[in-house]
Amino acid sequence: MSLFGRSSRSQLTFRPKKSSPSGSKGLPLKKHIDATLGSGNLREAVRLPIGEDLNEWLAVNTVDFFNQVNFLYGTLMEFCTSSTCPIMSAGPKYEYRWADGMKVKKPVQVSAPKYVEYLMDWVESQLDDEAIFPQKIGAPFPQNFREVIRTIFKRLFRVYSHMYHSHFQMILKLKEEAHLSTCFKHFVLFTWEFHLIDRAELAPLNELIEPIVFRYF
Ligand SMILES: [Zn+2]
Repeated sequence: MSLFGRSSRSQLTFRPKKSSPSGSKGLPLKKHIDATLGSGNLREAVRLPIGEDLNEWLAVNTVDFFNQVNFLYGTLMEFCTSSTCPIMSAGPKYEYRWADGMKVKKPVQVSAPKYVEYLMDWVESQLDDEAIFPQKIGAPFPQNFREVIRTIFKRLFRVYSHMYHSHFQMILKLKEEAHLSTCFKHFVLFTWEFHLIDRAELAPLNELIEPIVFRYF
């Protein structure tokens, strides 16, 4: 049984990652995020704190965003099935096909819940990989760290895209709109601050993104 008391129809469960990928060395940063977020100033909350390492900052925040998406999608899981969402889409114009570039090289069409399951499993495997997200103090981040972060953000964005386009009525019904909107705003501002997602990728939610960006940047 999941934390929401729902039967697990999908393999995806609500599985927050408690520790930061950087172990205890990431804790002060995590506290900083929580404190600035608590103050309600999202623009301030995304900025790299003075004197902090950029890669550390990206790592700690990536875990937080993963947890948020996991939580939000977890509340919609029972409404996002292979019959309601046979393909992973973001409105009528955008369809996503799954490929991880490792096991699945040629993109395959899968249902939205399958896609999200593969996607979240993939992100989790990156977060758990100490060669990418080092746990030990002083252990270096890999050369391609920024690239991995960009791919994680690009993929997490697709879950937001699908939730907004296919499940917004349910989100309203569940009264989750305000929470979703705050999480998404935070995600967009962070993405924008560190240029993590290409403009073309953001197109499915452009109407939501532009007002956020214009207001804060
Ligand atoms: Zn769906």
